[in-house]
Amino acid sequence: MDPLTLEVTDLRQWRMCARVVWYRHCLPAVRPITDLMLHGKEHHRQEEGREERRSLRTYGLSVGERHFNLSFFSEHLGLRGRTDLAIAVPDRNSPNAEAVVVEYKDTEQRIGPHIKLQVAAYALLLEEQWGLPVRTGWVYQIPIRRAERIAITAALRRQVTDTVTAIQAAINSEAMPAPPSDRGLCVNCEFRRFCNDVV
Ligand code: SF4
Repeated sequence: MDPLTLEVTDLRQWRMCARVVWYRHCLPAVRPITDLMLHGKEHHRQEEGREERRSLRTYGLSVGERHFNLSFFSEHLGLRGRTDLAIAVPDRNSPNAEAVVVEYKDTEQRIGPHIKLQVAAYALLLEEQWGLPVRTGWVYQIPIRRAERIAITAALRRQVTDTVTAIQAAINSEAMPAPPSDRGLCVNCEFRRFCNDVV
């Protein structure tokens, strides 16, 4: 993988612990696949089946065309990623069409800024690939069957590009970032054995 092309999930992770992203890119061979990751992928697959039966009203829509698991790449943004769900409203070919992006999360917890940043990054990729405006994203919380609306604001868009620039600079410099202030994140981290300074 081109080291300067980031995964959208890198942006979310950067907000939680920058060091995880640094390890992923600078030591790509060491990342273990944990049970938690496999469990998350399986839940996403199951959710797709439920989504086909779910009303679009969940996302404040009366009409729309659902597209699952779209892969995106943007040289311009320096990003690649795969959306859980993209909805063209009312469809991709209509005049004045727009698009909405939906991310599934297997959590009951409050949707934090790291997840909003991830949704905004998908929105920018979708906008570029489909050539349609994306003003709204949603996070669907699987355990509690709740969708939270995320406004794709100018500030959030700027955060996406600023974060990409910051991550690329850290990778190019090869200087390991500082650990997060919340060391609770380290308890179940798959990179724990590499962080002798914090655990
Ligand atoms: S152990 Fe802590 S500091 Fe090290 S990568 Fe994991 S979360 Fe970050």
